[in-house]
Amino acid sequence: MIPYNSCYQIDDPRFKTLIQKNACLHKVATGFEWTEGPVWFPAHQLLLFSDIPGERIMRLTPDGHVSTFRQPSNYANGHTRDTQGRLVSCQHGTRSVTRTEADGTVTVLADRYEGARLNSPNDVIVQSSGAVWFTDPTYGILSDYEGYAADPEQKARNVFRLDPDTGALEAMITDFVQPNGLAFSPDETILYVAESGSSHDPDVPSVIRAFQLDCDGRIVADSVFATIDQGLPDGMRVDAAGHVWSSAADGIHCFRPDGTRLGKILVPEVVSNLCFGGSRGNRLFITATTSVYKIAVNARSAI
Ligand code: MG
Repeated sequence: MIPYNSCYQIDDPRFKTLIQKNACLHKVATGFEWTEGPVWFPAHQLLLFSDIPGERIMRLTPDGHVSTFRQPSNYANGHTRDTQGRLVSCQHGTRSVTRTEADGTVTVLADRYEGARLNSPNDVIVQSSGAVWFTDPTYGILSDYEGYAADPEQKARNVFRLDPDTGALEAMITDFVQPNGLAFSPDETILYVAESGSSHDPDVPSVIRAFQLDCDGRIVADSVFATIDQGLPDGMRVDAAGHVWSSAADGIHCFRPDGTRLGKILVPEVVSNLCFGGSRGNRLFITATTSVYKIAVNARSAI
């Protein structure tokens, strides 16, 4: 009998249906300062990811070749695709959320709220309606390491929703210490947001919060979805069956929609973020400190 690879921690036998027991964790790129923001482009079969302090966005193609996509990147962090397949990015350096158009030009979607500069947009997702949701913690202005040191102009570290047609920006959640990764359930009725405030204050719980949305995108309920027991939650993704796959210090933690942790994919570097990709959408790409890893799973992206 083939044993499960040592890269798995199985907390609940149901996790075995979501992983490939003999799949290995592959290091597909390395040599970076702090990798983040992986995003897969099915139309091009390529992965983009940030090296935030290195001030560059990298491109990984299926042949394993890694090249520079954009440098300088304005200290880009999280990325996603919008409904038209365009790259949407958070940039610490410009304290903005941008969209890269098909012709390569870059459009600023948001850089101010109520007349003041944003803190440093961190991670971003796009709803099927086209609405852009992003988090705005202060990591990119705390020092010159991954942005430009500055005093915050915002009163809070918000989760924002942007209407890309009108440019209207609305603070939807205002009570985070440091909101970070975010993801929707497959039916978009639940928004998951990572609280990563323990990075600078050990009294802040390392939790993923779940927000119930009504059909207008208004938040009608708020609960703690899960606690991360190693390090803190940063980026996360939800698969087509609604499982939440979150970053943590020791790897990827996988949760059922009811919050039960099923298990972990153990990664030898601190994980910042992940995304599904590959030609059939069933590979996990994991950004972890200096490297990017890939592993086959029995799950695929909700979108
Ligand atoms: Mg992040």
